[in-house]
Amino acid sequence: MARVVVVGSGIAGLAAAIRLARQGHEVTVFEQQPVAGGKIAERYVASCRFDAGPSLLTWPQLLDELFALVGKSITDWLPYRRLPVICHYFFSDGKRLKAHADVQRFSDEVHSVLGVAPSTVKRYLNDSARLFHLTREVFLTRSLHDPRTFFTRHAWQALLHLPALDAWTSLHRRNVSRLHHPHLVQLFDRYATYNGSDPFRAPATLKVIPHLEFNEGAYLPENGMYAIIRALYQLAITCGVRFHFSTPVRRIRIDKSSAVVEAETPDQLRGEWPADLVVSNADVQATYEKLLSPGTKRPSFRKHERSTSALVFFWEMDRRFPELGLHNIFFSSDYRNEFAALRQGAFASDVTVYVNISCKEVPTDAPAGKENWFVLVNAPARTNADWPHQVAQVRRAVLQRLSRCLGSNVADHIAAEAVMTPADMARSFAAADGALYGNSSNHWHSAFLRHSNSSSKHKNLYFCGGSVHPGGGIPLCLLSARITAGLIARRRR
Ligand SMILES: Cc1cc2nc3c(=O)[nH]c(=O)nc-3n(C[C@H](O)[C@H](O)[C@H](O)COP(=O)(O)OP(=O)(O)OC[C@H]3O[C@@H](n4cnc5c(N)ncnc54)[C@H](O)[C@@H]3O)c2cc1C
Repeated sequence: MARVVVVGSGIAGLAAAIRLARQGHEVTVFEQQPVAGGKIAERYVASCRFDAGPSLLTWPQLLDELFALVGKSITDWLPYRRLPVICHYFFSDGKRLKAHADVQRFSDEVHSVLGVAPSTVKRYLNDSARLFHLTREVFLTRSLHDPRTFFTRHAWQALLHLPALDAWTSLHRRNVSRLHHPHLVQLFDRYATYNGSDPFRAPATLKVIPHLEFNEGAYLPENGMYAIIRALYQLAITCGVRFHFSTPVRRIRIDKSSAVVEAETPDQLRGEWPADLVVSNADVQATYEKLLSPGTKRPSFRKHERSTSALVFFWEMDRRFPELGLHNIFFSSDYRNEFAALRQGAFASDVTVYVNISCKEVPTDAPAGKENWFVLVNAPARTNADWPHQVAQVRRAVLQRLSRCLGSNVADHIAAEAVMTPADMARSFAAADGALYGNSSNHWHSAFLRHSNSSSKHKNLYFCGGSVHPGGGIPLCLLSARITAGLIARRRR
C-alpha cells in the first residue's frame, strides 16, 4: 500500500484516485478550487443552471467501467440516456439538417436536404468505425511510451494497414474527396474541433471521432453533465479517497524513493504531505514549471501547439425556441477563414456558433417559458488579448449569425448574461493558455509529442488528464487515468 497524492480533481484526477484506491493505496486529492471537476463545471446565471464545460458525452462505457470496478451499478449512481437527435445544423444559406442518431435516418435526411446519396454517408461512417478499431488499442488505450505497446497484434495490424490511418492528408482534404457536398464537408470537418484542432491541418485520422458519436452514440446524464463529477466524487469517497479543496499544491519535492507535496491550506499555513507516489492531474507543463523543484530536468514543450480555447456566453433567454434542440450548430459561411484567423490568434468576422440548451433535456435547468443558452465560439488559446474588446466584437458576430438563421432578433430575448473567456479558463482550471484540450492534434505526429503518463526521470511521478497521453476530452481523460493506474499497478507488483 502506497501513500498517493493526486494533484487536481479534474475528471482524470477523480478516475485515477478511484482506480488507485481500489488497488489498495491510501489516496489524498488536493484541489485548488472549492469544488471538484476542473473544466467540467456548472454555474448559475439569474434563474438558470448551466453546464459550464463539456455538454456532450461519448463512450460512456468508460464511466460504467469505473462504477463496476467498485461493485456499483452506474444506473443507480449516474443514469444517462442516448440522444435520438445528436445535433441540429444550420448552414449559412438557410439549409437545415438534423443529425439523427439512427444512421439510416441521418443518411436519408442528408439525401433529402443536400441531394447526397445515403450510401456516401454510410460508407464514411463505416470507414470511421474501421479506423477506430484499427487505432484504439495502439493510440488510445495503452501507453505510447511503453515499448510493449508496439509488440502487440494490434500494433502490427496498424502497421500493416498504415495507409488506412490516413495520417498524411488533412481531414478537410479527405472529406472533400469523400463527401461530395460543401455542407457535408463542413459538418464532418467540425469533428476536428472535438479535440481543439484545425480540420485544414489535422490529419484525416481524426475521422475516427464521428464513429463515437454516430455508431456508438451521443449521451447525456439525466441531471446534466456536472452530475458526472458529483457521482465520481461520491464514488471516490466510497473508496476511501480523502479530498482537500481550496488547497493549491505549491511544490512537489521528489527524490529517488519518496516525495513530499507542499500544499497551501485555506488558513494560509503551508502543509507538507509525505507521499510514495504523486499523480499530477494539473497541466503537465505547469507541473514541471511551477510545481517541481527548479533544478528538475524538463522536457521541451516548445514544439507543442495548444488546442483551441473557447469564448462562452451564458444567456438566460426570455422565451422558448421550439425549432432548436439540445445541441445546435450555426455554421459560418467561410470555415477556412475562421481557422486561418484562429491560427493568427484572432477571430474571423463571421464565426461558427455552438448553442447548447440543456433545459431541452433537463427541464429543471430553466424556469417555465425560459431557456438557458450556452453559446460557444472557438477561440485562440491565449490569455493576453484585449478580452473586453474581443468579447464585444464576437458578441456582435454571434448575434448577427443567430438572428439571421433564426429570423428573430436574438439580442431582444437575452434576459441575463455572463461571459467566460480563455483568460478566465486559464485562471479557474489552471488550463495552460486557456486551452480546452491540452495540445492540438494538428500534425500527424501530435500523438507522439504528448507527454507520457509517467515521468522518465522520477519513478514515483505520474500524470493524467488532457495535457498528457492520449489527450483531451472526457473519454481520453478517463483512458489516461486507466493507463496511469495500470502503469502504477505493474511497477509496484
Ligand atoms: C467550455 C468547454 C467545453 C468542452 N466541451 C467538451 C465536450 O463537449 N466533450 C468532451 O468530451 N470534452 C469537452 N471539453 C474538454 C474536457 O472538459 C476536458 O478535456 C476535461 O474535462 C479535462 O479534464 P482533466 O482531467 O484534464 O482535468 P482539468 O479539468 O483540466 O482539471 C485539472 C484540475 O487540476 C486543478 N489544479 C491545477 N493545478 C493545481 C494545483 N497546483 N493544486 C491543486 N489543484 C490544481 C485544477 O483546478 C483543476 O480542477 C470541454 C472543455 C471546456 C472548458
